[in-house]
Amino acid sequence: MSISNSVVQQLLEKCPDWRPQMYFKSSLTALSHAMEDLVLNDTDAPLVIASFQRERFYRQEATRYKRIADKTEQVYVLAAPETDFSNRSLDYETIAFESSDALAQEWHLVIIGQRYTSCLICRERNIAAPDSKHGVVMDTNRRFEGIWTFDRAVTSQAAEIMLERIVAYRPELRAKIDRAYQLYLSPQSTTSPTQTASPLTNPDPFVQRLVTYLQAGQYKLLKANKSLAAKQQKEQLLNSVTDAVRRSLDTKQILQVAVQQLGEGIGVCRCIIYRCHKDDPVATIDSEYIDTGIKSVKGLKWQLANNPLFEEAVASTETISVDNTLEDERINRLARSQKTGKFFQNLIHNYSIYSWLLVPIFYHGRLLGVMELHHCEQEPIAWKPDDIALVDAIATQVGVALIQAEAYADLEDLNEQLEALDRTRSNLVAIVGHELRTPLSTIQVCLESLASEPDMASKLSQIMLETALSDAERMRNLVQDFLTLSRLEGGGMEWNLETLSIGECIDLAISNVKARNKEHPLPQIKNLTTPENLPLVQIDGEWLVEVLAKLLDNACKFTQADGEIAIAVKTNGGKTLEVTVSDTGRGIETGSLETVFDRFYQEEGALRRSAGGTGLGLAICRQVVKNWGGKIWAESAGKDRGSIFHFTVPIKATKKKSGQPKSPAAKYKSSRKKSNKKRS
Ligand code: ADP
Repeated sequence: MSISNSVVQQLLEKCPDWRPQMYFKSSLTALSHAMEDLVLNDTDAPLVIASFQRERFYRQEATRYKRIADKTEQVYVLAAPETDFSNRSLDYETIAFESSDALAQEWHLVIIGQRYTSCLICRERNIAAPDSKHGVVMDTNRRFEGIWTFDRAVTSQAAEIMLERIVAYRPELRAKIDRAYQLYLSPQSTTSPTQTASPLTNPDPFVQRLVTYLQAGQYKLLKANKSLAAKQQKEQLLNSVTDAVRRSLDTKQILQVAVQQLGEGIGVCRCIIYRCHKDDPVATIDSEYIDTGIKSVKGLKWQLANNPLFEEAVASTETISVDNTLEDERINRLARSQKTGKFFQNLIHNYSIYSWLLVPIFYHGRLLGVMELHHCEQEPIAWKPDDIALVDAIATQVGVALIQAEAYADLEDLNEQLEALDRTRSNLVAIVGHELRTPLSTIQVCLESLASEPDMASKLSQIMLETALSDAERMRNLVQDFLTLSRLEGGGMEWNLETLSIGECIDLAISNVKARNKEHPLPQIKNLTTPENLPLVQIDGEWLVEVLAKLLDNACKFTQADGEIAIAVKTNGGKTLEVTVSDTGRGIETGSLETVFDRFYQEEGALRRSAGGTGLGLAICRQVVKNWGGKIWAESAGKDRGSIFHFTVPIKATKKKSGQPKSPAAKYKSSRKKSNKKRS
């Protein structure tokens, strides 16, 4: 059954002189409890009618109503059911109304006894819009309007309205309700106004209850204010640390500002930050804040290996808090289990770390460092969740600032590299331009002379043609070497790894060099290798021969015909062989031993090139050797004291021998065509 009339409205119509008042929900709760307490603290057996908006509100008070029912048999409780609230006559009468009923918006409590009468008849004001953040109506914001009074006449009117409704919902209660009329509302009743002098003969319990509510309210307010102020202070601290650390791109400064602000702001004895990786055994403390009189740990090596707090923080990626280090099970277990565990106890003792907070600074799963807070007074403290949350938030900000600083430093490095690259590019363009222009000019002069002087002596014209041809050949070699080097540097080369005997590669390189220099007398080339004692190598044979041939070519170029060249190979105990090409030629100045590997390096300068060559040979060798993971370097005792070029070659990993290694000669020949195509 659903009645749409408002009880508040009905009462106001019956009592036109009364004006409704506004009440917050908390006031209604306080008043209702105070009124109920009146019943519970008195010997009177009053009429009690309570109407709750929903079953859930009634449930909170159900035990009180049971106790009230012990005092009087005239108790009526109304509510809109939500689970199992229904019309029943158990300890007291329960009356269920539909949620569309006007009562669902109202809150009533009517009490009529011998010594006191009181009523609270209220209606909820247009229900507040849901709190935008939480999507619910804040309970404290709910407001009601209506009448609360001790006035007997008004209370009687309210009781009559309510009893009429109860009969309408539960007609079977008619007899009981008639009795209520007789007992509490008829002029003859013992509770009628003529019978009772004062509406509230003993106001004490009521007043006490209200004062308690007032006190509780005040206390809650104070607490809320306090926590709000603390929250505000923490937010300010977080903001100021964030602001300060984000303003700098200097890692040291970021960390120092963070420890200083955090240490002072949170009021700890010591706050430190150190950079570390998760597997570092120790870290150096480079940023520290200490309160007056506290021992400094700055610059100390902080042990991380076997530190159970550090290990736990890294594994869980969470902050570890220890309220009392002397009683911490992890620390004590370590001290018991290992001799080295004592170091930890000593550390705690030496630096008076009685309460400890260890906060790992992570960024995208990467450990950047650790922040520690120490409390150094004998009386340990309990770390509050709010403080831990604040320190966590600051650690996150420090992490971001560190990454920003790292990115900036990387950017600076990159900029420097780019500038260097740009300089190299400009140099390269100038050098290549020069290297190509020189032979091109010679060719042009020769061809122009031939064209403009048809009567030129045949001997001279022969010389002109030969010069033009030789410079054209030089240009072709230069372009080819330049392209090869570009591809090697750009990683665009295909490598064909094979298992080879290095001795055969050396023989092949020597015969190539000899074939190329048939017309010139060459210094003697000695092969000092004993291939049968050497392990096989795992390498691209074609390129190994190329490197050997280039070194031999250079040795021939810079050594007199009566000099000597030697090739030797030795195992150096590791996974590589070391090859040396030495000569007794003009040698290299100590200061040029590295620069000879630069592109276009030539001792006499490109213009006065007497020995020919492109100036790219050693640069190509270095790229090739680098590719197979080896090293190449030059040695010389100085001018005219010969040179030695060394390079390393990877040995084939030793498994069971499977067949004969391929002959490099066959391989070299077959792949030569293919690779020439590749390089051109
Ligand atoms: P190039 O085509 O000029 O030989 P390289 O890159 O092969 O170019 O060599 C660069 C320079 O290194 C040579 O011009 C020379 O000055 C020096 N150099 C190379 N090998 C030797 C050597 N065996 N003895 C003395 N100087 C050498």
